[in-house]
Amino acid sequence: MEKIEVAIIGGGASGLFLANALADGKRAVVFERGERVGRKLSATGNGQGNITNLAADTTEYFCVDERSKEKIAQIIRAADQKRLTAEFRALGVLLQADERGRVYPAGKQASALTDALRFSLAQKGVETRLNARIVHVEKSDGGFVLTAEVGTEKKIERVFAQSVVLCAGGKAAKNFGTDGSAYALAKNFGHTVTPLYPSLVQLKTETAYTKTLKGIRVADGGLTAIAGRERLALRGDIIFTDYGVSGDATFRISAFVADKLEAGVTLSIDFLPDVSEREILAMMERKRAAFPALGDGELLFGILNNQVGRAVMKRADGRMEGAAKLVKDFRLPVTGNLGFDYAQVTKGGIPLAETDDGLQSRLVPGLYFAGEILDVDGPCGGFNLQWAYASAARVASVINEK
Ligand SMILES: Cc1cc2nc3c(=O)[nH]c(=O)nc-3n(C[C@H](O)[C@H](O)[C@H](O)COP(=O)(O)OP(=O)(O)OC[C@H]3O[C@@H](n4cnc5c(N)ncnc54)[C@H](O)[C@@H]3O)c2cc1C
Repeated sequence: MEKIEVAIIGGGASGLFLANALADGKRAVVFERGERVGRKLSATGNGQGNITNLAADTTEYFCVDERSKEKIAQIIRAADQKRLTAEFRALGVLLQADERGRVYPAGKQASALTDALRFSLAQKGVETRLNARIVHVEKSDGGFVLTAEVGTEKKIERVFAQSVVLCAGGKAAKNFGTDGSAYALAKNFGHTVTPLYPSLVQLKTETAYTKTLKGIRVADGGLTAIAGRERLALRGDIIFTDYGVSGDATFRISAFVADKLEAGVTLSIDFLPDVSEREILAMMERKRAAFPALGDGELLFGILNNQVGRAVMKRADGRMEGAAKLVKDFRLPVTGNLGFDYAQVTKGGIPLAETDDGLQSRLVPGLYFAGEILDVDGPCGGFNLQWAYASAARVASVINEK
């Protein structure tokens, strides 16, 4: 049987970061079930590759198992955005931040990130085996035996590895090879998986008052999610759709509501966050006095998008006070989300408490985890790739010391 030192399961972001961080001379192989490595990485940030964020503050990360917060913070601090940026610069990729702190390759092509890592791996002699899906891993003397299904004919191949790193991602966006099936590889060793939720995903809402608004974008609106006593307010674009809402504000808030939907979540839209309710009402009153012939539906003309104005007036039964309130607090109960197929990340995963400080399994020495397969997720804006990078760096440093 072929013998290697390190088997990396998954040639996505964390698998490639990890392989790149391994010391030269390690006999490592990246097993990727798809036809190419870094398929998701090459699609990130709308194809522009939002790899990290200048504000990738350690407190921004979520985990279902709240005990993990400090460990996540330590791991991110040890391999932060500065280190990531310097490493990519060393690979020949210039990273630049936009006005919101989101960091991209200067050429705004996510594929540049994948290419840089591919070239580096080739240079280091790390092999990537494509169309090789690991279907089983078992403990063996001094290491592990991995079973791979290779090629379209699913030929079975077995490889012995001293260490195994599970970088197989989560359950979100299965078109990139992440259908959640890889959790079974860890469960087989006795690991648990927290409840899983789609995050960074469009939200379904009650649509009775928004049917006419499909396609309308509220630029830099205010969006608040109310979940019992908890609430999160942020600003950004909100786009009305036939099922509910999309847009960057929705994506960002979806990370907060992901695990609260069953208990009930309501969204509140503020169409004009910089204008007070009193000012809006005063403008409407002046308009009514100046143009008595205007119908109720037109009173918000010039203040809001016409269709939004009409929808607001209709919901307020034509009453100006009610309409002014609704402009600032347009409530939509959330009825669900578009699910894992549309989500960018998975909330939940293998609890960090089941790993040591080097992200090595506490149950099976020699087995490590990095990336989204762990119970860590971040908000929109480069935080998730930063986690993939930092967790991979942590594992690599431990393996390199061996
Ligand atoms: C459309 C989209 C846009 C995104 N944009 C951003 C962004 O701009 N910024 C950001 O920070 N994050 C973004 N994300 C999230 C980010 O891409 C992920 O969090 C990150 O890629 C996770 O890295 P990973 O290595 O854990 O998993 P992945 O990158 O998902 O890689 C896992 C790999 O493992 C392979 N695999 C799975 N099972 C097996 C198996 N049994 N055997 C062999 N191979 C296997 C899969 O084919 C896949 O290639 C985006 C996600 C999506 C879907």
